[in-house]
Amino acid sequence: MNAQDTISSSSDPGSSSPGAKPSSFDPGMTLEQAGHIDLHMHSTASDGRLSPQALMTLCHQRGLSCAALTDHDTIDGVEAAAHEARALGMTLVPGVELSTRWQGVGIHVVALWHGPARAPMMALLERLAQARHDRALEIAARLEKVGLENALARAREQNPDARLLGRPDFARALVEAGLVPDMMRAFKRYLGAGKTGDVKVHWPTLEETLEGIRQAGAVAVVAHPLRYGLTRRRLGLLLDEFTELGGEGAELISGYQNDDRSRDLASLLVKRGLYASLGSDFHYQGGALAPGTLSTVPRSQLVPIWQHPRLIPAFKRP
Ligand code: AMP
Ligand code: MN
Ligand code: MN
Ligand code: MN
Repeated sequence: MNAQDTISSSSDPGSSSPGAKPSSFDPGMTLEQAGHIDLHMHSTASDGRLSPQALMTLCHQRGLSCAALTDHDTIDGVEAAAHEARALGMTLVPGVELSTRWQGVGIHVVALWHGPARAPMMALLERLAQARHDRALEIAARLEKVGLENALARAREQNPDARLLGRPDFARALVEAGLVPDMMRAFKRYLGAGKTGDVKVHWPTLEETLEGIRQAGAVAVVAHPLRYGLTRRRLGLLLDEFTELGGEGAELISGYQNDDRSRDLASLLVKRGLYASLGSDFHYQGGALAPGTLSTVPRSQLVPIWQHPRLIPAFKRP
């Protein structure tokens, strides 16, 4: 199934608007008309498996005309992606997925902006690089206790580009050392939420992060709100606090999502006046997701993030 099929197929006939879907992304499009767009993807600059250039090529092959690169805590891939996107006639919106903590939960915030990243964003990214470094030392110490000798060196071996270490590097090291059969089991036993290698204390708080994003003139979006395992009440609290702290958007759809939950999420976002974003959270080929993979967008009064006044210039077609 290609992006167009995925996006335009709807299990709810009432959710499709009359007339044909536009053939490519247009900033005037409503959320329900949205196709050919993906505002959450990863490259080799963080834990994705495609280079920024290769990712843009794949996006183009899949018919996307607008994309955001949102690597974890780094914008190292943005320039190369923007360059390639321009050559392919696509729009590349600069972005990043920032690691934060809120009430003991690791919450991811996508920041999107227009033009070069400003100094407060660079300061936030430096802070996060230090946090990733410190966290890697702690994860390594903890994994050594459960039998992964030389954990730090082994994780580094998984990461030839010498970018910042992430939990997937440790997961691969665990697999290679034969302590677990596969990545899934590595997360389930050692690195997933609540396990020994799930270290969050180093991340900036949600508050610090939103302040940095605000100072940088960027727009803050809650990444994949339904993937934190929060009860509906706590998700409401998160969205309340996020909005009070100056956050302006949330991902209404992140990859594959249950339609009922999407509708409910839409109502939570409408209530708080948040803009809606859409993204696959694509990391690598061969899995269930590809760039542009999105579940059905429910009908709502939500305003798309591409119509946010500060982002309108970023979404202009080249
Ligand atoms: P980090 O940002 O270093 O904390 O690593 C988190 C990343 O690990 C996520 O962005 C995913 O790409 C990956 N991840 C999380 N859970 C799993 C899992 N169960 N299996 C494989 N990868 C996962
Ligand atoms: Mn990731
Ligand atoms: Mn995430
Ligand atoms: Mn992501």
